[in-house]
Amino acid sequence: MPRELDHWIGGKTVPRGTQETLVIEGPFERAVIARVALGGPEHVASAVAAARAAARDWADRAPVDRGRLLAEVARRLRERQHEFVATEVEETGKLVAEMRGGLNVAADYFEFYGGVVRALFGETINLGAGDHAFTSREPYGVVGMITPWNGPLTQAARGMAAALAAGNTVVVKPSEFTSSTTLMLARLCEEAGIPAGVVNVVVGTGSDVGAALVDHPDVRLVAFTGSVATGRRVAEGAARRLVPAILELGGKSANVVFADADLDRAVASALTICVGAGQQCAALSRLLVQDEVHDAVLERVAEQMRARTPGERLAPMTTEGQFAKVVEYFEVAEDEGARLVTGGHAVAGELAVGRYVEPTVYADVTPQMRIFREEVFGPVLAVTRFTTEDDAVSLANDSEYGLVAGVWTADSARALRVASRIDAGQVIVNGGRTGIETPFGGYKSSGLGREKGFESLFHYTQLKTTVVSTR
Ligand code: NAD
Repeated sequence: MPRELDHWIGGKTVPRGTQETLVIEGPFERAVIARVALGGPEHVASAVAAARAAARDWADRAPVDRGRLLAEVARRLRERQHEFVATEVEETGKLVAEMRGGLNVAADYFEFYGGVVRALFGETINLGAGDHAFTSREPYGVVGMITPWNGPLTQAARGMAAALAAGNTVVVKPSEFTSSTTLMLARLCEEAGIPAGVVNVVVGTGSDVGAALVDHPDVRLVAFTGSVATGRRVAEGAARRLVPAILELGGKSANVVFADADLDRAVASALTICVGAGQQCAALSRLLVQDEVHDAVLERVAEQMRARTPGERLAPMTTEGQFAKVVEYFEVAEDEGARLVTGGHAVAGELAVGRYVEPTVYADVTPQMRIFREEVFGPVLAVTRFTTEDDAVSLANDSEYGLVAGVWTADSARALRVASRIDAGQVIVNGGRTGIETPFGGYKSSGLGREKGFESLFHYTQLKTTVVSTR
């Protein structure tokens, strides 16, 4: 039976009545798995009103009290992981192991922000005797949050945990293609003891619900995760009302492999393009390899990519639009003269009932080609060779994006030099592990502001200075 997905407003499911619905067909067999209510500005208005009504009480609670409730959300998420994992796998197509990892990350966000918010202090400022000045970090009030389809639970958890910990209330607009786990999370927040109205979800399309959320006068901060094109529209809407927007956008991240690198690990890092079948903002989709090891690395990457059998070790594309987009890039790459090393087609045969594409590697990719410049969002690796360190840096930086970069070298001075010259919000040297603790966000068109880490709490609060005369 397809799931019926309706708005969650003020702690209640809002019956859709005669509202239109969107039929969602899953990625594995294109069978109908859900019917989503198509909300509009009126649903946004009632969700924002509920969030506003709940804002004072929530903001007034001690951070430690909010933190305990967030920890309880994390506990319940882990307790109900099977249900969340199964639902999101059905909707996105992710591999079960990937989604289990995603669920843990989502729970970690609630634990982390529920804990560290207790250390969100202001400062005192010494103005000399007679005046006492201090700063405090206050929530904005209602935060409007818009999320994409590629990581619905983790993206919602990332923003919600920080926003709620800091004392804001939220109205979330998940992607219309993957709304289920966001609705489940909102309900779970309520079960964990978070008051009605603190978390609200309005489902529907970006043009109807997303735009109305950005435009609503009582939404004081917008947190958007999605594509650059939509991010720009959201930023324009926020700018019209002069409210801040946190923008987490796309990427075309470079993974730079020098000849002296640990090649086993560098090759393994190139294979992360297969995580989520490449449908991740942080995908290292450009592999830049130094001349001396180029052919050997390419051969090993191609061999390991071939072993990522779709359906077993490689997930399908989540949406029909994304499937069509990746298939189109196969044609574009061929027309532009990139050398196809492996893959390059939609999967034929039995699996063709689902949205599978082959794990794909192109070599001899030049900066003029679209697969070098544009985010494909599929298991498609663009390989380019370089000669010198300067070449590597200029190729890595030859992009409108700047989300992540990888650097592989045994020379630590070079690693730091290159890391400092690459324009990206995160640089990962020799496979360093990132965590919830590490701030994440984009340079250039990859975004504005930072999620994750303690840093995120600064974005979800505004700074107040109070000055008291003691004369
Ligand atoms: P998208 O931009 O099409 O949609 C994102 C969200 O915005 C959806 O909920 C959509 O309904 C909504 N939306 C669409 N039009 C809108 C409008 N006019 N006003 C307000 N909201 C609107 O992106 P997508 O295809 O869902 O997601 C893939 C993109 O997200 C990729 O570019 C990916 O790199 C990016 N992404 C970035 C991060 C990050 O943290 N930097 C994380 C995940 C995904």
